[in-house]
Amino acid sequence: MARLVILGGGESGMGTAVLGKQKGYEVFVSDKGKITEKYRNVLTHFDIDWEEEQHTEAAILNADLVMKSPGIPDTIPLIKKLIDQGTPVISEIEFASKYTDAKIIGITGSNGKTTTTMLTYHILKNGGLNVGMAGNIGDSFAKMVAEKDHEYYVLEISSFQLDGIVDFKPDIAIITNISPDHLDRYEYSFEKYVASKFQIAKNQAPGDYFVYDADDETLANWLKKHPIKSKLMPFSLEKSISEGASLKNNSIEIITDKNILEMRTDNLALEGKHNLKNTMAAATVAKLVGIRKETIRECVANFQGVEHRLEKVLKIHHVQYINDSKATNVNATYYALDSMSTPTVWIVGGVDKGNDYKELMPLVREKVKAIICLGLDNSKIKDAFGNVVDLMVETFAMSEAVKVAYKIAERGDTVLLSPACASFDLFKNYEDRGNQFKEGIKNL
Ligand code: ADP
Repeated sequence: MARLVILGGGESGMGTAVLGKQKGYEVFVSDKGKITEKYRNVLTHFDIDWEEEQHTEAAILNADLVMKSPGIPDTIPLIKKLIDQGTPVISEIEFASKYTDAKIIGITGSNGKTTTTMLTYHILKNGGLNVGMAGNIGDSFAKMVAEKDHEYYVLEISSFQLDGIVDFKPDIAIITNISPDHLDRYEYSFEKYVASKFQIAKNQAPGDYFVYDADDETLANWLKKHPIKSKLMPFSLEKSISEGASLKNNSIEIITDKNILEMRTDNLALEGKHNLKNTMAAATVAKLVGIRKETIRECVANFQGVEHRLEKVLKIHHVQYINDSKATNVNATYYALDSMSTPTVWIVGGVDKGNDYKELMPLVREKVKAIICLGLDNSKIKDAFGNVVDLMVETFAMSEAVKVAYKIAERGDTVLLSPACASFDLFKNYEDRGNQFKEGIKNL
């Protein structure tokens, strides 16, 4: 019996363990931290060996195959030892994809993955396909393959998942965009980070499709230097496109195989330029898999949006409150500010991942009337914008930030939480930050 060792007892680890057991592997799960009760119950139920708060080398180095959870860096000694002795170390999507014949839509990028994944799933499901949504969202891909396989999967895939692929091949791959993020995991090399995202296309063949943002210079330049085999399906807000998606007057026009789908932009559920791009990407996929035009139009109009991404919370005294807590980098916040059409009170700050605020300057000058800093260390934000806005207030708790925003904002303004930073100085995660924002608003 081949021995499958799983490092990391989280969602992807558990899915792999269950699928591995089902496929006849001798499975062992090892987690350096504690495994939650929910997952311990899964291990007991499937009679799978495991350990926590340690990695016992003797029980790991004898593996035939290792699945490493995306949170574990390649650089730790244990992983190095495994690689040096020639043991394959793969990711969950690599493992799971071996056991399904489904058509796979793989979505990666720096921003917009979740939104594009959920919208694509929404259209495919309403179009009547037997489709599952997995990856970084909800259940793991491996768990779905083990429990109830589907004919299509829409997978949100992080670059860490892509680092561990060998044969994984999506029928349709999407890279939403590429901007610097997580560079700490790529030896601070943007080149390496981009290369990692393009792993999504490395096994693609001429019958497959590659959907991407043609306005993104990093993507366009990379493709020029590193051609890929699948058929390119660009989307663009600026260029005219012969095959792919573009803007024509007030409509999105998607051309595949000389067949045209037009959709009016004033009917779209998701607002903002970035969401126009996400909508183009999702609708292109839907068209490629043969969903009816009418269904695609309906679905992009009735999609409910995703929590913590430019989420409209409440209007109080004619002030709109918007929760964009998921904006953990400058690029995401750029699009949030860009989509503001009224004077904005902007709540920003948290853990800075090496941010360069320069590209936000013109938008801040034009739209932001006050900045509320919300982080343990706000010095960079103060330095960057101190001379640009008339009013800047420092706060150290969400309840305080919301109250200050309420005082400053006037009829017709917008209060926008779009932090451009990670959340773990004052919050558990971005969801906690967004929820506290919404709580604060409800308590006003
Ligand atoms: P991801 O899953 O890649 O983190 P999300 O859909 O969760 O992406 O969105 C993360 C943040 O980026 C949100 O603040 C959202 O408003 C913003 N965003 C969404 N789509 C895009 C895009 N295409 N380009 C830039 N920013 C985007």
